[in-house]
Amino acid sequence: MTSKRIRVLEERQFAGMSKIESESLRRRALSRPIREKTIHMHIWQWVQKNRPELVIFHVPNGEPRDVATATKLKRMGVVPGCPDFLFFTATGSYAIELKAPGGHLSPKQEEFQRRWTALGPRYHYFVCRSFFDFEKYLEKIEI
Ligand SMILES: [Mg+2]
Repeated sequence: MTSKRIRVLEERQFAGMSKIESESLRRRALSRPIREKTIHMHIWQWVQKNRPELVIFHVPNGEPRDVATATKLKRMGVVPGCPDFLFFTATGSYAIELKAPGGHLSPKQEEFQRRWTALGPRYHYFVCRSFFDFEKYLEKIEI
């Protein structure tokens, strides 16, 4: 990650916090590799604040859960490989799978990607590895 990107991330991530809180969090955040969950929450916070009109939602099928809950959710239609975000516009349907830098799609995620994109040219699948990837993707698809 370039120093410019780190500065931008810090400014966004720590805006509104006191100096002491932000310094402590900044040091902790920069000492660890960025996790998918961090990217995920950052994107959602940004969407809620900046693009609340988007029809976008998270499919919560990746969190640890007990066997009874997993069984119930499976019977209700939760399927492995479903992407982290789905969003829809008048011009297309978008599946966004989030991955920490270096992460790869699982076989079930690859299968979902194949099925989704086989639906036609209006069905798009994007693997997003950072908040900046998400921002750039929205710019690219002009949404
Ligand atoms: Mg993911």
